[in-house]
Amino acid sequence: MRKIALFPGSFDPFTLGHLDTVMRGAALFDEVIVGIFQNTNKQPFFSLEERKQMIEKILLPIERVRVIAQPAQLTVQCARELGAHFLLRGIRSVKDYEYEKDIAQMNQSLDASIETVFLFANEKYSHISSSLLKEVIAFGGDVSAYLPKEVLVALEKRGRHDG
Ligand code: ADP
Repeated sequence: MRKIALFPGSFDPFTLGHLDTVMRGAALFDEVIVGIFQNTNKQPFFSLEERKQMIEKILLPIERVRVIAQPAQLTVQCARELGAHFLLRGIRSVKDYEYEKDIAQMNQSLDASIETVFLFANEKYSHISSSLLKEVIAFGGDVSAYLPKEVLVALEKRGRHDG
């Protein structure tokens, strides 16, 4: 059986922390599918389609990884449709642990055949989240140490149009 993992998230925007998790996941599984989900609680910064194009570019050099965009769907349902028996998630802190535990246990009760696998965040990126970076970006702070080049280019383009 091919071991396929779905890495679900908002990725708004995709950070170097996300990239680190994808690369480490790609070393563990036969295929990692990055699933960009529309988060119903969050106002999007980049549209689903913009995110998909950006992430595809970023992940082009990495083998056995692909990207899908999902408007709104139950994660385990999406995994089943993709033939993925694993969900990949990252843990940065105790706060993430609490949040992720609830989601993982809910998913387990929805479909016990799908296992959630956690990777601890790389310490270089364990203090960053897409939301925190968005706050810094809004006030013109430098976040270039935390974002892939493709995201920085998109942000710059957007800044030029806004300004
Ligand atoms: P969600 O809205 O589902 O939390 P995110 O895009 O914020 O989506 O995060 C997707 C996954 O990536 C989550 O498991 C999150 O814990 C993990 N993650 C987020 N930021 C980092 C980071 N800096 N390092 C490692 N993992 C991260």
